[in-house]
Amino acid sequence: MPWNSECECIPEKELAAFQLEKLRDTVAWVTERVPFYRQKFDGAGVATADLKTVEDIARFPFTVKNDLRDHYPFGLCAVPMDEVVRVHASSGTTGKPVTSPYTRGDVAQWTECVTRALAAYGVRPGDVVQNAYSHGLFTGGLGLHQAISRIGCTNIPIGTGSTERQVSLMRDFRATVLCCTPSYALTIAEKADQMNIDIKDLPLRVGIFGAEPWSDEMRRAIEGRMGITAMDIFGLTELCGPGVAYECSARSGSHINEDHFIAEIVDPATLEPLPFGEKGELVLTAIQRRAMPLIRYRTKDITRLVRKRCSCGRTFARMERISGRTDDMLIINGVNVFPSQVESLLLDIPGLEPQYRLVVKKRGYLDRLIVQVEAGQAIFDQGREKQYAVAAAVADHIRGVMGIRVHVEILPPLFLERSEGKALRVVDERSARFG
Ligand code: ADP
Ligand code: ZN
Repeated sequence: MPWNSECECIPEKELAAFQLEKLRDTVAWVTERVPFYRQKFDGAGVATADLKTVEDIARFPFTVKNDLRDHYPFGLCAVPMDEVVRVHASSGTTGKPVTSPYTRGDVAQWTECVTRALAAYGVRPGDVVQNAYSHGLFTGGLGLHQAISRIGCTNIPIGTGSTERQVSLMRDFRATVLCCTPSYALTIAEKADQMNIDIKDLPLRVGIFGAEPWSDEMRRAIEGRMGITAMDIFGLTELCGPGVAYECSARSGSHINEDHFIAEIVDPATLEPLPFGEKGELVLTAIQRRAMPLIRYRTKDITRLVRKRCSCGRTFARMERISGRTDDMLIINGVNVFPSQVESLLLDIPGLEPQYRLVVKKRGYLDRLIVQVEAGQAIFDQGREKQYAVAAAVADHIRGVMGIRVHVEILPPLFLERSEGKALRVVDERSARFG
């Protein structure tokens, strides 16, 4: 059952009318209160009155991550600071952190969005939820925390790290739900193996995984190891955090909380809008936030949207699993490569572990992609020849499907550093040497 059928199953026409009203309110709100938007809209010759249908949003200019950085920390905030009750920020590993201020109402709406997600995953009172997302400025921890409390299940706000303790508490507290990044779920599963605890024997039932790209093959690997149903949750700090979109039991794409966000797909090169069904960059507009509602925010995430009747009864459009971010996309001798594509192919080969790293180097004018992947102990026990054979099988498979030549290195179990949050999959050494 949807948490909020009235919204989640709203007839399409009513949704469009609702979105238009909220969009107009929001555009007027930022025009009046945020000089950045006022100047931008003036420059583009557009105004609230131009919004006659939701599609008219395409006439408005985009907002990009650098706009947020240029106005760090609160230059895009549309309310006075005494109305801001919370601030989150994204990691900022690639520059100044990106901040996200919330009014009391914004926090309530965010909670509503994540609560819908939890309900869709079958989380209910009586569940014991181990929330292993980082609690703090990162939106994952507190984003889930609020919704867990709203549903009224038992909340274990353990946060990230201390993996041995994660496993013991999972067992001792009889956790039924685990929230973390998919890569950290694997780290926890491995630690349990080392502790001779079989998670499959524990009551754990559901995993709520997001914050980084993961393939369906990775999902199957995690489900097989932990004996759980692994569900996808999507979001980004700039728009609120987790809960922008969530999977339902149909598990065929994630429903976007469309009464809160308008989703578009654009061609990342030309920035022209693309119709539903085509793959491109996801652009989101927050239509109910008040502290920092972003207009046409380019997420850099690559996906496609579908608006087809879903067996769950929800009418919200669905986005396909993210294939990657434009800034994670590698161009290897002219071919576009997303790490998640390589991940899927690696997991097709029996005996390999879902632990890998892509290292890119330059040799002369050519790019060289080195795929480092861990193999299970069984492969190592069979000696060098076997490892070479597996490496060749991986390289053939990748060449066959993606048309690129790669060099494959088979690593022993537990060789790569384990992730507690977002996994680092790519090491691009090209710009470092020739930049
Ligand atoms: P940062 O930009 O520092 O990574 P965020 O924590 O806000 O900060 O990350 C948001 C990004 O994480 C999204 O834009 C997307 O690339 C990725 N992401 C979040 N959830 C998912 C998911 N379920 N699947 C794939 N990628 C995701
Ligand atoms: Zn559905």
